[in-house]
Amino acid sequence: MSVIGQEEGIDHGSMRGYRQHTYRKVPATEACGCLAAVREAQRASKPVQQRSQKQRQGAGGQYVTSGTGTRPGRPILPPGECPTEGCSQECAGRTIQRRGWVRVHVQGSTMPPRSFCSGSCASVGIALAELRMDASAR
Ligand SMILES: [Zn+2]
Ligand SMILES: [Zn+2]
Repeated sequence: MSVIGQEEGIDHGSMRGYRQHTYRKVPATEACGCLAAVREAQRASKPVQQRSQKQRQGAGGQYVTSGTGTRPGRPILPPGECPTEGCSQECAGRTIQRRGWVRVHVQGSTMPPRSFCSGSCASVGIALAELRMDASAR
């Protein structure tokens, strides 16, 4: 005889009972205790999952710090720290004559026009100039 639809014999108040509910297609209720048992089981299993996640993250961190040769080839230096002479110097009223140099002037910025030795230096200069917008000149 099939147990589908039969509530009799269900081990109420436990995960096993909840599975019996599912199998027999008998709705689990708060009154019989099976829903509470499921919640309890989920609560109990959560800290285990969190611990295993942390362990994975820890292992990943160790892998990154112990790795070698993964640094990007060229560090991006802020203006003024570039070793190229004249990079990030103010150049108001002057034209830069050197090949590959970039003149940066952000309209409305309090930062005067500057010249940079390369596009990567100039992009940092643009970002800095954009941070120093003259609020009164809008
Ligand atoms: Zn039940
Ligand atoms: Zn530079």
